[in-house]
Amino acid sequence: MEQIYTIPINEAFEKCMEEEGCNCPICKLFDKLEKKEVEMALGASMMEPSTRIQTNEKGFCSEHFRMLVNQNNSLSLALVLESHLMTLKEKMDGNLLTTILGGKARNHIKTAKGVSNNCFICERLEPHYNRMIENTVLLYAYEPQFKAKLLSQKYFCLPHYQMLMEYAKNKLDKKKYDEFFKDMSEVENKYFEKIIKDISWYCKKFDYRYDSEPWYDSKDAVERAIRFLSCGTSDDKNNK
Ligand SMILES: [Zn+2]
Ligand SMILES: [Zn+2]
Repeated sequence: MEQIYTIPINEAFEKCMEEEGCNCPICKLFDKLEKKEVEMALGASMMEPSTRIQTNEKGFCSEHFRMLVNQNNSLSLALVLESHLMTLKEKMDGNLLTTILGGKARNHIKTAKGVSNNCFICERLEPHYNRMIENTVLLYAYEPQFKAKLLSQKYFCLPHYQMLMEYAKNKLDKKKYDEFFKDMSEVENKYFEKIIKDISWYCKKFDYRYDSEPWYDSKDAVERAIRFLSCGTSDDKNNK
């Protein structure tokens, strides 16, 4: 196990055990990393030629564009966009041979397709993301005190639950995997029951007969259900 990952994993698990707004610990870990990468993309590294070549080529996905805009660093973003747009235009135009052979339209489609499929930040995050999933499972397998931390989580969002389970299935021996599944599903089942109860009560509150009843925990049930089904520890990742 690599310390570079195990320390932040332990921290995120401990934080999510205690803090109200902290839910899935893997989301928490990922958001922190993502925030750092977004800041770096418009920070000093954007002036480095090696970074610039990559941002010119790959650009960003819509979610990361949104986060870049929220950095409130319009000049840096505009400079990155300027050279990215110029690179795309050059690629679309191709060279003289493309013009002669009549492949220009194909070039345009290929370049435009690349824009929607690539993201500089997503690609930088991916290897870290995989290592975090791996190291979380390994912590469970090799550090006995981690079991209690895992069992004390509110939940794992379903995309991260799937990733953890899949990695564990491939890497752990049968006995350890069965134990991991038992503990993980205990956490998930508990939250499933809670969120179903809350969302059902939320729906009931639209019926006039329940007008005078309290909301209990259901006021934010829709947002919580969506967070459980998808990823994310807060509504605005930039506000953390
Ligand atoms: Zn998650
Ligand atoms: Zn992205």
